[in-house]
Amino acid sequence: MKAKKWSRKKIVDTFTGTLKADGTPMSRQQIHMLRKKARGLCLTCGAPAIGVYCLKHTIAARERMRRKLKYRRRLRNSASYVLEKQSHSRRRGPQASRGRLTRAKSRATAKAA
Ligand SMILES: [Zn+2]
Repeated sequence: MKAKKWSRKKIVDTFTGTLKADGTPMSRQQIHMLRKKARGLCLTCGAPAIGVYCLKHTIAARERMRRKLKYRRRLRNSASYVLEKQSHSRRRGPQASRGRLTRAKSRATAKAA
């Protein structure tokens, strides 16, 4: 039988009974986020995180705030852009179609050798 990974019992850890700055109890949703943050998981989906979100949700948060604050500039050297670019090239890597892209890649490997 498959081992059960969850329990109906109340979790008792350092975050149990956390109070907000004004002394009122913190909501269970906020405590859930603190637990994920402490374990280094994405606050939205629970995947391994970069900062507080995974790459997908870091990008989502960035674009959401860009719209909200009406930002025009893009800081291309920031982590979310760099990692976004890397993940694109990695995804295209092995199953790349023949053509310009493959030739450019073979040239790059020839230079490296
Ligand atoms: Zn996520």
